[in-house]
Amino acid sequence: TPATKDYELSRSQIELGEIIGEGQFGDVHRGTCTIGRNKIQVAIKTCKPASDMAITEVFLEEAYVMQQFDHKHIVKLVGVCTENPVCIVMELAKLGELRAYLHDNKSTLRLPTLLLYIYQLSTALSYLESKKYVHRDIAARNVLVAAEDTVKLADFGLSRWVEDCSYYKASRGKLPIKWMSPESISFRRFTTASDVWMFGVCMWEILSLGVKPFQGVRNNEVIGKLDNGERLQLPPGCPPRLYSLMVACWQYEPSKRPKANQLKDSLFEIMNEEKSQQQE
Ligand code: ATP
Repeated sequence: TPATKDYELSRSQIELGEIIGEGQFGDVHRGTCTIGRNKIQVAIKTCKPASDMAITEVFLEEAYVMQQFDHKHIVKLVGVCTENPVCIVMELAKLGELRAYLHDNKSTLRLPTLLLYIYQLSTALSYLESKKYVHRDIAARNVLVAAEDTVKLADFGLSRWVEDCSYYKASRGKLPIKWMSPESISFRRFTTASDVWMFGVCMWEILSLGVKPFQGVRNNEVIGKLDNGERLQLPPGCPPRLYSLMVACWQYEPSKRPKANQLKDSLFEIMNEEKSQQQE
């Protein structure tokens, strides 16, 4: 991937700290990266050594994708180290995974904060839509918490390989069926409209404080339910207007779903409406 050249880091710039997660290709560490006189906190995704070149290239694909984006609610690439052991260096989301954060802070998180997160993610989705990029794996598990009032969309690249990379298929096994649109499940058709469907599920997960969709339902039963017109239920405490927006994202016909930038505008309104109601 020659386009990653500008982002090349030398090993000496990177300092590995504790492990904070496990990725598809290897551990993810907290650490630091020294650029000029600045030492910044970063997350470092490693690729297990002894991987063959093809796998290393798939691993680096994520960096190549991230490099094209510059948005405050999308995790930023800091750089890559392309000599073995290969790694990807990203900005650190200090508070970790959103789902765990929602679980841990159940008792203190309030609706305005959840709406803020959803709104921030919709700005990222709208940005991706404007770049004609299809993410394919919009879900709460791919959202990281940078600060109490800031979330970021993560996990790029891999999802694009669902169809053409046997490695991904073999090791990952299952597709995220419960998040996927009917046309994605049935025909492996992924578009900005199917991303909008997934965003609807992601909004539902956030309002449900990290509950996963279709609990107790088997993957192979999901498409039947969707075909029957069944949808995820109104989460407790979810404003009806927000639920209507989710339901709009789950229109069977992709062209009838809202566009990401419309979602963003509606969410902005809902967020402010709720804010003024809370103050009353
Ligand atoms: P998968 O697709 O199976 O989720 P992956 O290879 O895409 O794996 P990630 O999910 O991106 O890996 O990363 C694994 C974990 O590492 C995350 O769930 C998160 O806990 C942590 N992590 C990744 N990136 C960051 C980051 N920028 N800041 C903080 N933590 C991170």
